[in-house]
Amino acid sequence: MTTHTTDFPHSQLPEPVEVDAAAIDSAIRSLDLKRKIKLLSGAKMFSLWGEESIGLKEIIMSDGPTGVRGEEVVGGRESCLLPNATLLAQTWSPAVLDEVGSLLAEEAMDQQTHIVLGPTINLHRSPLGGRLFECFSEDPYLTGVLAAAYVRSLQSRGIGASPKHFLANESETQRTTVDCVVDEQTLRELYLLPFEIVEQDARPWTVMASYNSINGVTATEHDGLINGILKQEWGFDGLVMSDWFATKRAPESANAGLDLVMPGPETVWSTSLEKAVRAGDVPEETIDDHVRRLLMLAARVGAFGEPRTWPTDIPRPDSGLRREQLRRIAAQGMTVLKNENTTLPLAKGTGKVTIIGRHATDTVAQGGGSARVRPPHVVTIAGGLGSALGPDSVTIVDGVETRTRMIAASPSIVRDPETGTPGIRVRALDDQGNVLDSRHFDVAELEVADDGWLANAARIELSAEVALPSPARMRVGVIGPGQWSVAAPGHHESFTVTPHDGPGGGLHRPKSHVSVVPLESGARITATTGPHFEMRIIGLVVTPAARPAAAAIRDAVEAATSADTAVVVVGNTQEQETEGQDQKTLALPGDQDALVAAVAAVAPRTVVVVNAATPVLMPWLKDVDAVLFAGLPGQEAGDAVAAALTGDIEPSGRLVTTFPARDGEGPAWETTPTGGRLEYTEGPEVGYRGWHHSGMEPLFWFGHGLGYTTWDYTSAEISERDGQGIKDVTVALTNTGERTGRETVQVYLTPLDSAQPVRLIGWGQVSLEPGESGTVHIDCDLRTQRIWDKAGHRWLPLAGSSIVIARGLGDPRITVPLENGQES
Ligand code: BGC
Repeated sequence: MTTHTTDFPHSQLPEPVEVDAAAIDSAIRSLDLKRKIKLLSGAKMFSLWGEESIGLKEIIMSDGPTGVRGEEVVGGRESCLLPNATLLAQTWSPAVLDEVGSLLAEEAMDQQTHIVLGPTINLHRSPLGGRLFECFSEDPYLTGVLAAAYVRSLQSRGIGASPKHFLANESETQRTTVDCVVDEQTLRELYLLPFEIVEQDARPWTVMASYNSINGVTATEHDGLINGILKQEWGFDGLVMSDWFATKRAPESANAGLDLVMPGPETVWSTSLEKAVRAGDVPEETIDDHVRRLLMLAARVGAFGEPRTWPTDIPRPDSGLRREQLRRIAAQGMTVLKNENTTLPLAKGTGKVTIIGRHATDTVAQGGGSARVRPPHVVTIAGGLGSALGPDSVTIVDGVETRTRMIAASPSIVRDPETGTPGIRVRALDDQGNVLDSRHFDVAELEVADDGWLANAARIELSAEVALPSPARMRVGVIGPGQWSVAAPGHHESFTVTPHDGPGGGLHRPKSHVSVVPLESGARITATTGPHFEMRIIGLVVTPAARPAAAAIRDAVEAATSADTAVVVVGNTQEQETEGQDQKTLALPGDQDALVAAVAAVAPRTVVVVNAATPVLMPWLKDVDAVLFAGLPGQEAGDAVAAALTGDIEPSGRLVTTFPARDGEGPAWETTPTGGRLEYTEGPEVGYRGWHHSGMEPLFWFGHGLGYTTWDYTSAEISERDGQGIKDVTVALTNTGERTGRETVQVYLTPLDSAQPVRLIGWGQVSLEPGESGTVHIDCDLRTQRIWDKAGHRWLPLAGSSIVIARGLGDPRITVPLENGQES
């Protein structure tokens, strides 16, 4: 019998960085009001001002949370693309998040970046939320524990984290103006809890305030939340920055506790805060407190006082080490949702395997929006599985269309006409058409920065030659708002692309325009902007024209009929999993459901791989043999899926959100505000809590995941508790299957007051060999066993009627009754 304890001691606070408070005070005293206020707005999109007179260096930030993209939104340097947040969270492993934090810290150091803007710790309230892929879970405790491990790990390496978005930013529709109406108990027990856990267990150096309002007050002006709860009640001594372009009014935000307005250089603070201070609307001590927090941050990240040195021996994003880490982490988080007759793992020599679906070749490795990074490569699922099973036993069949919005041409399809190398040519032209500058880009999109090499161009020209195996009908066009003319052999058109609404003009989701053009290999395409372009992200689109779904399904059925196993790869794209927009349905985009159903009807065995981060409907579930939920797996996607499907690495993930069977089901659905307000009417009944209380059955429960072995839970006992609640539970279990496996033992509390929903209070993990027995000690957190007393504005202990030891609430194994909150 093996004994295991959980691997995440909550009380282990990071060592604080020594900060010279006297030096900070004297620096503040030496600055006049104007110079202090200047420091409190960004200098650029992702950097802060230095101030030589006080020894303050420039501070550089980069978006996270799944990679360190750098200061450019697209086309910047290559960096590691990690698995998305839900896939990381599906490991339920703080140790994995610790490894993620260390990897991100090294990526940041390599780019001399001081702060990574993550983790995103809003909750999965409605499954329609566009940005769920960036957040960990519907459960606040799981979210908080994983986030704390991430933040501790980053900051212990001198890189600041920025848990975001504070607060109640669970959906994207009207995100800059929506007023989220949430009662106090729900705010405390659900949406504040991850921030509280992170603050207490990891002490983040910054927090990012969201765009939305909470109960009528916009987040950047929310004195009750920022000054009241975060800074005073919890003792947060870091800096609160605004989300990008979120700050609306100067005195209100400065007085509410916002410390830094992003991005810069021109902001509502840089233009009007000084006047507000001089008019007496903002006390100068308030400004000093903001500057103090900024200098503390600078000291912590090594930009004030003793300058930091940056290591030079960081592994490259495509090094063997990184590839091993990213493949392993992604595969571990993948979740087996169904596995009839031990269809999985696929053995080598299983016979002929046909891999079907657009996501097999156009594998979606990441979501859309500010979290996007430029990876060194993406291993496609077809590529990864082909190499794992041997190219001779595998055939690859394209599926139905999955995208409606255009993305930039793949470098495998375009060549720079001047160099012949993969990528495009970008030329800056003056108003006479003379070339001011000309550069090669090895991707087909780029960012036009105000101060970059294209800033003085009257027009910009993008050009490429296409590389095609045979003549084909292609969609040809551009990404980016403004006037354009596009020329290809036999094709010429001029048009205007309208800008997108939203902060930064839809920076992360620029609109596009394409036309279908028959092309031969070597055909030259040239796209030129009009004279007055105001675009930031531009790109050239060259992609195969859509085929009718019926033809694609016919091909798939033919291939599946003659194979032993069909692996159908379906999923979402950045049109569903994205910042800036919510979904309207959980149905897979395009005709993918029809594709799966048609293949399942003829294939001897059908395995479905779902390449999506958030719940999708599975109307074909009963007709297929196995389903692997693979998330958005990052740069090593295909190799990780192959490792999971073949059992080289056990996909031991457990779901972090509940999957509805049909659109509209579940405690919270709608994300569209009514009259600007979004009411969280379900209160604390978010996710599995609400499903369980209502007695409804979801398609899959939070916590569900089969792995590749079976488990027998033999006993459970409460090993430590006090008047506040249960502190430790011991569970004995045996691996009754034939493979080594990793189990996540989950402990839920059923409250005595039946009006209160069930909740996760702890979990532990253990790996056992076939036939081996072990015990696992599970830390149960008192912060999950309290109830917010609205009348008294305080926490009260929450008595339980029982604890349930479960593999997700759909598979409870042992119930330990409690009497009057005590074990019976
Ligand atoms: C996002 C933030 C992000 C920021 C900077 C905003 O649109 O909401 O999460 O850090 O952009 O890119």
